[in-house]
Amino acid sequence: MSLQQSLSQIYLDANATTPVLPQAADAALAAMKTGFGNPSSSHVTGLRAKQIMTQTRERAQRILGSGEGEVIFTSGATEGIQTGIISALSAAKQNMDPNKKYCLLYGATEHKAVPESLKHWNAILGIHAEIVAIPVDNQGTLDTKFIAQHLSNALMICTMAVNNETGVYQDLTALEQVIRANNPHVYWMVDCVQALGKTGLNLADTTIDYAPFSGHKLYAPKGIGFVYIRKNAPFTPFIAGGGQEGGLRSGTENLPGMAALNEIFAIMLDESDFKFTPIALLHEFRLQMRQSLEKAFGKVIFNHEFENSVPTTLNFAIEGFSSKEIMDLFDAAGIRVSSGSACSSKVTRSFVLDAMGIPAWQSEAAIRMSFGPAMTQEEVNRACQRIEQSAMALGHSCLMSQHHIDDKAPLAGLIQFKVGGSCTWLYVDADDKSAIVIDPLAQVSERINTLIECQQLNLVGVIDTHGHADHESSRNVIADKYLAAQSSDHLGWPDNAETFELGDDKFAYIPVGKKWLVQIKTPGHTSDSISMALCEPVTSQLDVQYLFCGDTILMGSLGRTNFDCSNTADMFSSLRLIDNVVSRDALLCPSHDYNNEFTSSIDAEIARNNLLQQTLTGVINKSQFVTQKDLLDQHIVDESGSEIICGAFVGECQQQRMNEYDSDTLANALNGTDKSIKLIDIREPHEYALQHDQSFDENVPLTRFVQFINENKHDKNAEIVLLCRSGSRSHVAGQALIRLGFENVGHLKGGYALC
Ligand code: PLP
Repeated sequence: MSLQQSLSQIYLDANATTPVLPQAADAALAAMKTGFGNPSSSHVTGLRAKQIMTQTRERAQRILGSGEGEVIFTSGATEGIQTGIISALSAAKQNMDPNKKYCLLYGATEHKAVPESLKHWNAILGIHAEIVAIPVDNQGTLDTKFIAQHLSNALMICTMAVNNETGVYQDLTALEQVIRANNPHVYWMVDCVQALGKTGLNLADTTIDYAPFSGHKLYAPKGIGFVYIRKNAPFTPFIAGGGQEGGLRSGTENLPGMAALNEIFAIMLDESDFKFTPIALLHEFRLQMRQSLEKAFGKVIFNHEFENSVPTTLNFAIEGFSSKEIMDLFDAAGIRVSSGSACSSKVTRSFVLDAMGIPAWQSEAAIRMSFGPAMTQEEVNRACQRIEQSAMALGHSCLMSQHHIDDKAPLAGLIQFKVGGSCTWLYVDADDKSAIVIDPLAQVSERINTLIECQQLNLVGVIDTHGHADHESSRNVIADKYLAAQSSDHLGWPDNAETFELGDDKFAYIPVGKKWLVQIKTPGHTSDSISMALCEPVTSQLDVQYLFCGDTILMGSLGRTNFDCSNTADMFSSLRLIDNVVSRDALLCPSHDYNNEFTSSIDAEIARNNLLQQTLTGVINKSQFVTQKDLLDQHIVDESGSEIICGAFVGECQQQRMNEYDSDTLANALNGTDKSIKLIDIREPHEYALQHDQSFDENVPLTRFVQFINENKHDKNAEIVLLCRSGSRSHVAGQALIRLGFENVGHLKGGYALC
């Protein structure tokens, strides 16, 4: 089976790496196939190889304006950075005064390779200088006053020419004046990786001692780079051995890499038929992309000024969307961009934007689009068209207010919004569009507003399960807009709700379309905690689909009961009341989901939560519960860090075994005797609409996953295979299904990306 990637790729992540230009690839291939000699060999094959190396170096020297300085080939910039740092620190160590305190200065927005290497060699060489980050202002410009103050004690200063996340460049002439006025002899390294091909350089006219470069950021392959060393700057080889590169960097040279670089240099020097796009036109390309983003998404906030950044980078945030959502959207549209720093894709915030004092949400939502000087007008046009298509897909899913689309996808059932470990729930009746919102988080209120308007929902309630201690509810914001005439208590429960009796208990309820939302008072976590059961109209018992149980039962834990307004004994009674009136397989929809489990049931919780099991089976009484629960809650403080955690995990969080397919094994399974495999694409509807494989004809986005579980909970033997972009969402969703007793769950490992 081959999953269809119906869209061609638009690659906008050049600051992470670039494709190899065909002429550079051809040169590398020729250097491997025919010109494969070792430049150290004295026969003809060796001499020809040496000629390529010499020409590449000579072109590099011209491009850098290196004068009498050295240009040494390396494996890339990280090696060049080591070379500069070891050389500077080894020399500085010779002249250190044991009674003086020293520092090593680096720009706060520097690529991690710089501070990490400084730390490393500072320790290895036993220098033990203080490593100090130079602050930047909100435009990303280094604080020259700070530099001036700290230079007298500095052994080395590391700055960068162009930042990889924002494209912000530094005024190297102004920096040089400050540096040399305050410390004429300090060693100065400038990371020039992102400057090559985007700004002019004339290194020998400066007092920069070391300047590392990397080939793969400018259309050469990975594994080739070079470093400039100023004439008379101290030098210690980073790699010793056979004496290549005049003894400055040993190891047989990477000739294919150099041959490719040679072609790139020829283009830069205008000695090739191929031309890079002039800088002025690159500026126009960036403006065109900016306009396209603003037209498509409306509220786009740029995280840097265009005036002091190279024209090939745009770093922005789209209000109301996380960077992960935009990455997923763009990837589905075939547009490759990066979030935060491409070098540390697991980190959700950008330290570069944080250092610039950019608001936290912008740093969390940051998207970087970057291209290189080989970009063409035609590619820019295609990129802009694709950006606009992506935004239309969001509009179709009612996630953006500025798109009024007639054929929007209908919305019905339960939707789960997650922000970090917290959840908001929206339920919509399929027929009359009655809707309720439970535990609205501030971060999703705008999105809920857009959905209400776009889908013309009839909001009947916006209700908190309790007064939240860890975050602010946006209940009032939504209620003031849509339910101004409704009078309710402080949680939003309507004052005029009807009531009914069940056994000795009396319950209030509000109708939501054909269903009832029944209030069950469940104090414990807080004195005002309620649970709400969405069920069929009640006759003799509650037939519950979903129980919105707030922080009473959390997945893998019970809500903490050590707040001032908590009561542990009350929680015991609340748990038993829930168990009396709600069936054990009804789905629990708590206000937190710390471990990406989506939902649970009393049955599933009893299986891993000893305390809950003992409580509900009568093994322990109220006072024993209080003792055990109080002990459990003591752990919460230790684990919580800065976030208030509403329940301590007590169960096992084991990874469950699930079937892992690649496209071939899935094709075999589909061709086998059992053809009843449910193939489900679990990306969001806008991603699915932009591109999907035809055989995955069911789309169950994670936001609707709890509803899918509810609809399928009586068919747990069915074979299910899940698919997403990279295999991570499908893995998480598969784990959740298995935990709830689904027996035949698999996913496509690596997702669309690897198929
Ligand atoms: N410095 C900067 C500014 C970079 O952008 C990068 C790569 O992302 C590096 C250094 C490291 O370069 P290399 O991948 O060649 O080791």
